[in-house]
Amino acid sequence: MLEIVPLPAFKDNYIWTLRDERRAAVVDPGDAGPVKAYLARERLDLVAILATHHHPDHVGGIDELLQNRRVPVHGPKGEPIPGLTHPVGEGDTVTVAELGASFSVLAIPGHTRAHVAYYGAGSLFCGDTLFACGCGRLFEGTAEQMYASLAKLAALPDETRVYCGHEYTLANIRFAREVEPGNAVLAAREKRAAGLREAGKPTLPSTLGEERATNPFLRCVEPAVIESANKYLGARIADPVRVFAAIRDWKNRF
Ligand SMILES: [Zn+2]
Repeated sequence: MLEIVPLPAFKDNYIWTLRDERRAAVVDPGDAGPVKAYLARERLDLVAILATHHHPDHVGGIDELLQNRRVPVHGPKGEPIPGLTHPVGEGDTVTVAELGASFSVLAIPGHTRAHVAYYGAGSLFCGDTLFACGCGRLFEGTAEQMYASLAKLAALPDETRVYCGHEYTLANIRFAREVEPGNAVLAAREKRAAGLREAGKPTLPSTLGEERATNPFLRCVEPAVIESANKYLGARIADPVRVFAAIRDWKNRF
């Protein structure tokens, strides 16, 4: 039975670890330390590494994990991923046979130019593209690309579990409430997330249904979001990509 465990790293990263009784695969091991400690404590063999994008807080631990073992490293073609053995892109499938798991690769550029997500068994590993109630910054892509990438993720089923790269949920919700002060589902989400954090628990995974109901970056056609974007810009726009770009810019200054 496959279990998915968050290993906290740095200030607010999660290294998502897929495991059964004997083996494990990790997604975005930015730091080898927590992974090595967990593998040793649980007596697990590492069998695969999956990377969503090249930022050091997601791939910085790969070299050290490969020092005393050889395992496949899956990651986006077109980005410098340490130890990359399996470059992947849109439409590819990543199989971790030892864990009986396989994932479709979705190309979701915007945060970085070749960022990918892994989707399988009702779970989505989306790195720094979709966050709980937020989205990643546009470092290497355009608003058009990011909007299309988020739309691609938003088209997955409601019950999809969303495993993002960072614990940003409470700060994201604070911003989302500025954008959509009248969203009651969002207000309820804030209470729930605050309770989880007070108990020292992750707010993740969320579900795509929850994101579609509360994440302003997936709600750029909602009248309340459009209105807030217009207020921020002091202009009248309705095109969803422009609404997206406006609230992304607003969030950067928030
Ligand atoms: Zn990143």
